[in-house]
Amino acid sequence: MNGLTKRQLGDGQQLFQMKILEDNYTYILSWDNDALVVDPGDAHPVLELLDQENLKLVNVLLTHHHADHTGGVETLKKKTDCTIIGPVDDRIGALDRSVDDGEELIFGPFSIEVLATPGHTKPHVVYFFRDLHLLFTGDLLFSGGCGKLFEGSPQEMWNSLEKVMALPDDTAIYCGHEYTVKNLEFAHHIEPENAEVSARLEQAKKLISEGKPTIPSTLADEKRINPFLRAHCQSLRDVLNMPEADPVTVFAHLRELKDHF
Ligand SMILES: [Zn+2]
Repeated sequence: MNGLTKRQLGDGQQLFQMKILEDNYTYILSWDNDALVVDPGDAHPVLELLDQENLKLVNVLLTHHHADHTGGVETLKKKTDCTIIGPVDDRIGALDRSVDDGEELIFGPFSIEVLATPGHTKPHVVYFFRDLHLLFTGDLLFSGGCGKLFEGSPQEMWNSLEKVMALPDDTAIYCGHEYTVKNLEFAHHIEPENAEVSARLEQAKKLISEGKPTIPSTLADEKRINPFLRAHCQSLRDVLNMPEADPVTVFAHLRELKDHF
């Protein structure tokens, strides 16, 4: 299958990463013959993979209401009778179970913590797989960037990003879009002297030219290369000529610059 990568997580546990629609990622995690899917923007490639791998879809985890993350839900529900889980939002349609900040979900071997992360949209959550240190970030955090503020304030988004920054540094970041090259071009524009940004940009361009994903990233890497996680760093404030500004002001300014980049 095109645009599919597979990672072995543990005994009988796998993570499938699928490129769908234009530049979205959807993720299927399996244990034995059961599976859950995160943000299925399109049902067909998911159904194809389930069939191919002989998996039964048990749960759908949604981060937020946007159609490129939820477009496959109705068909998946009809075909597999899976349980639909996500944040309370009228725009998502029929949820079987709603989740909120701090809630714990246990599916097979996976223990998952839900973090409420408003900003891109008001209801938005991310899913942290506690034992494996995997984080499914939807449109909160990308490699080298973050989601646009469609519904939340800079303060809310910064608080959400800080919540994620408190997770273990070796957390693997699985985000909703392949935006890495564009994001890092912006990061390089902002911090031309940041050698790690330049190196990661070259690496990302090479991966894309070979048809490979740049995702996952790690939280440790993002803290070094992602300007939106660096709004509290003095070196970044200095290059922006706002040495005394607080992180939220710096973050809001960065977001504004990126929106017009
Ligand atoms: Zn979105």
